[in-house]
Amino acid sequence: MIHLKNGDGIQWPEGKRIAVMLTFDFDAELLRYSVIGKKNIGFADISRGQYGVKEGLQRCLAMLQRNALPATFFIPGQVIEKYPEPCKAIAAGKYEIAYHGYDHNNTIGLTREEETENLEKSESLIEKICGQKPMGARGPLDALQDFSLDLFSQRGYLYDSTLKDCDWPYVLDNGLVELPTDVAIDDFSYFYFSYADEAPINCSYLPDDVLEIWKDAYDELAAEGDKIMIIKLHPQLIGRVSRINMLEQFILYMKQRGAWIADCRTVAQYVKDYGMEKGAEAK
Ligand SMILES: [Zn+2]
Repeated sequence: MIHLKNGDGIQWPEGKRIAVMLTFDFDAELLRYSVIGKKNIGFADISRGQYGVKEGLQRCLAMLQRNALPATFFIPGQVIEKYPEPCKAIAAGKYEIAYHGYDHNNTIGLTREEETENLEKSESLIEKICGQKPMGARGPLDALQDFSLDLFSQRGYLYDSTLKDCDWPYVLDNGLVELPTDVAIDDFSYFYFSYADEAPINCSYLPDDVLEIWKDAYDELAAEGDKIMIIKLHPQLIGRVSRINMLEQFILYMKQRGAWIADCRTVAQYVKDYGMEKGAEAK
């Protein structure tokens, strides 16, 4: 096998093969509203998003707890305002909570002042309700503006996890660590379903098929050695019974095969410190 080294050659703690992060975008019904835009999608479609609040989140938390796993939850400010108790439950589990917009709408076209306002509102909600200061950000609908990454850095964030440009983490000129994601390792790509469009969006793969796709991706990335794998999930999609079982099997598969499973802030700090050490060695 050709041993690819496309990344910067980073070595993970204790000789682990790959850094894996379990990330949950707890969007509730805002995911439905923001995907469909301003169309009236009706309360029945909205209820699909509320499944995450009423049912899916509890399954995700139970699965994390029984396997003693760390995780990062990206939560829009409006979700914290509307559903404070579930957000407190996430915080009580010592899971990391990070910024994911205020209303979850695409931010393209907002002024710097408007995006700053979104950040301020969401940060104060995360601090007030969840008792944490967010250290990371992920753009809602995977959208960022030209100034977003600088804005995050100026506000003291450690990392962003929105871009899609590679499978390894890197440090931007402004000091922010980027932890790229991949739409193929995202439950949205396989399980999002809606009638609320001109043509129904029908992504209902069999969990076993997704498990095979994800296992293959894990094996390939772990073989390359200096990579990360961010599992991007939504409680409203992955939290259905058959799917959460599939996720648990996948996590056990990775654990048995040398994964370092950590939350995003831990991996980002490791990347930043590692980069600094490398820099010091080079002098
Ligand atoms: Zn989202």
